[in-house]
Amino acid sequence: MDALLTRSPAWLAVVVGLVFAEIVWRLRSGRGYDRGNALTTLGLAVGNIPAAILNGVVIGAVFDAGWKIAPIHLPLDDWKTWVAGFLAVEFAYYWFHRASHRVRWLWATHAVHHSPGEMTLLSSLRLGWTNLLSAGWVCYVPLVFAGFDPRLVVLLLALDLRYQFLLHTEAKLSLGPLEWLLNTPSHHRAHHGCNDAYLDCNYGGVVIVFDRLFGTFRAERAEEPVVFGLKGRGLETNPVRLAFREWRDLLQDMKTAQGLRYAVRIALSPPGTVPQCRKTQELAS
Ligand SMILES: [Zn+2]
Ligand SMILES: [Zn+2]
Repeated sequence: MDALLTRSPAWLAVVVGLVFAEIVWRLRSGRGYDRGNALTTLGLAVGNIPAAILNGVVIGAVFDAGWKIAPIHLPLDDWKTWVAGFLAVEFAYYWFHRASHRVRWLWATHAVHHSPGEMTLLSSLRLGWTNLLSAGWVCYVPLVFAGFDPRLVVLLLALDLRYQFLLHTEAKLSLGPLEWLLNTPSHHRAHHGCNDAYLDCNYGGVVIVFDRLFGTFRAERAEEPVVFGLKGRGLETNPVRLAFREWRDLLQDMKTAQGLRYAVRIALSPPGTVPQCRKTQELAS
């Protein structure tokens, strides 16, 4: 779905051009460019193609079914629909992204995006293969029920992803006063930080206002350099192992749970925590 829109030849040319420009800039500025990291990202991007096609088929079918039973259909030829749709998609994206960091079942997919040890434009293409299984996309279904045409939702999400490609860089680019309103490379670097100062912040897509509204905004600070990567995890270069690493650990933890209810609690708990099973507590007391 979004893959078909975001991988148009013209956009691909822009992506390739900017990636090469950034490689030159990083090498000239002494930052270096981790080739192993880049190859892992490319492996994940190639593996993501069939996953993205499957996503398009399944999520597209759910959106179409929702659209058929939606009580209202907002007109696509009215600019107000697009303004409201943009805000609605950004709002849904904020909660999708926040849930992807705070619920292990969703984090199992999203952690792949946070795994690179350096912030490059190319690393924005590092996405998990199990989006369908994590089911964070259900955050967008209410938009269709609310009357937004699935084509509008898909197009705005695709544009959101294109915008976010530009945020993945260590280049110090400031947008001035727009930094208050829009997500920027600086805000997104903080989002990718695995040091405690930056954990779980800046979930916005194009705009950063929902983070400011819901108390999850944190500014990047010069005295606290961002450390990229996953907290407590070594760098993994094998794309297949990386795509399933969090799932392996999550399923192992779920298997130790006594009963389905506790297994579900583990799946819904935040990353880095294991909720106490009541039977375990009873045994300990
Ligand atoms: Zn994230
Ligand atoms: Zn990112």
